[in-house]
Amino acid sequence: MRFVFLLLLPILIYGKAPIAYSFSSKDKPLIVIDAGHGGISTGAKAHHPFCEEKRIALATAFLTQKYLDQLGYRTLLTRKSDIFLPLSKRILIANRSPCLLFISIHFNSAKNPEASGMEVFYFEKEKGKKRSISSKKLAGLILTDLVKRTQAKSRGIKNGNLFVLREVKVPAVLVEGGFITNFQERNLLKQRDYLDKIARGIATGIDQYLKPKNVLGAS
Ligand SMILES: [Zn+2]
Repeated sequence: MRFVFLLLLPILIYGKAPIAYSFSSKDKPLIVIDAGHGGISTGAKAHHPFCEEKRIALATAFLTQKYLDQLGYRTLLTRKSDIFLPLSKRILIANRSPCLLFISIHFNSAKNPEASGMEVFYFEKEKGKKRSISSKKLAGLILTDLVKRTQAKSRGIKNGNLFVLREVKVPAVLVEGGFITNFQERNLLKQRDYLDKIARGIATGIDQYLKPKNVLGAS
């Protein structure tokens, strides 16, 4: 009886049973992390301070990998170095793997130097399609956490007919983590601590999507 009481104690204190959720090593979900651009494709670029999209995308991809690893996921990076990788190859890597989700990491540019903030793209082929609904939900969870951690302006989640999002078979999103063409934001993107916040935001959004009842993932 005393044993039963001890078992019930957390429920009595917190009102509901704590949810212990972990994946066993063999069924750890696989997430594909795609660092945008690479090699001759530099992506967005600016000077003073010098900043290239391909470099910060890769740095953020590695940090995201670290946090997903800590949360109990397996990861596959489409590129691990400064190499050019055609979009078709990125899609092939994802579609040939048993991945559950595909996350592409990019940074933005605009003619207007005032443009700032973060946005997350998903692809909605037809309203109500399962993959579209899932991608949209994932985009929302990631953006909410990103904005909370970085205090960046939210530009919202957007339906984008982007090649990688369209052709990958699993729920897929493309994160635009800030504007390289905005002086203040570029300065932040040069800081590892800030990229770390972006990576944590992406990893937490993924975790909330896959383990919605795991309260630890929201910390
Ligand atoms: Zn890009």
